[in-house]
Amino acid sequence: MPELPEVETIRSSLAPALTGRRLEHVEILDPRLTRPEPPELVAAALEGERVADVRRRGKYLVVVFESGRHLLVHLRMTGNVLHPAPEGRRDDPHVRAVVRLDDGSDVLYRDIRRFGTWDLLEPGELEEYFAARRLGAEPLSRGFTTAGLGRAFARRKAPVKAALLDQRAVAGVGNIYADEALWYARINPLASAGSLDAEQIAALRNGIRTALRRGIRRQGATLRDYRDADGRRGRMQEEFRVYGREAEPCERCGTPIAKTRVAGRGTWYCPSCQALTGSR
Ligand SMILES: [Zn+2]
Repeated sequence: MPELPEVETIRSSLAPALTGRRLEHVEILDPRLTRPEPPELVAAALEGERVADVRRRGKYLVVVFESGRHLLVHLRMTGNVLHPAPEGRRDDPHVRAVVRLDDGSDVLYRDIRRFGTWDLLEPGELEEYFAARRLGAEPLSRGFTTAGLGRAFARRKAPVKAALLDQRAVAGVGNIYADEALWYARINPLASAGSLDAEQIAALRNGIRTALRRGIRRQGATLRDYRDADGRRGRMQEEFRVYGREAEPCERCGTPIAKTRVAGRGTWYCPSCQALTGSR
């Protein structure tokens, strides 16, 4: 599932190709993409729009149009945006939308599991959209502070990993980068979020930023279920400290990495560096 570094990798390659281009023709082939809006209405509304910028908020791609409208693309499990369109991909059954730009090139939206969404917002609706989803701080921005993270976690009994996954404290962190961040911070994924002290919160803030920055530098991770979904291949999976590394030695202390489940998700950690201290 693409997380912040994977979405940022897509954003940074799309932005120069799309900025300044007009959407000449839009075909939305899967009604699930725009539900409950009818796909032909969204497609018609998009035609003629000119792209002013391509941004990111958490795991959302935000296409900014000169008109002030925004197209919010959430890739969910297996969504991907391809430009330029690979040869032969137009007959690919997983292509859900095709956008012809005014330079004659095509942008393809591909999604095997079909959980991805496109929301077209009218001018002025963006803030409300994210507020309604209680989307937390942008972790690589200056606004992501230790104090803010501490406030978001205060009195929360949920395991810290679950609190990271639900996007309300911090946006864009998913299963991979949550495990990596907690390893950097030496915090057990099952520790309750509200039990962390100021020092741990500060370490976690830094751990989140370190894990995400490494992910972006390696152009994200390319995992099994994502392998043939994209034209891009990240290398972050070669650098995981704990994620998916059960029984391999911890790089810091040599203890075999353990696996558990938190919030229904496979969770990897070092039982020695990330011991659960009952007293906290
Ligand atoms: Zn360790």
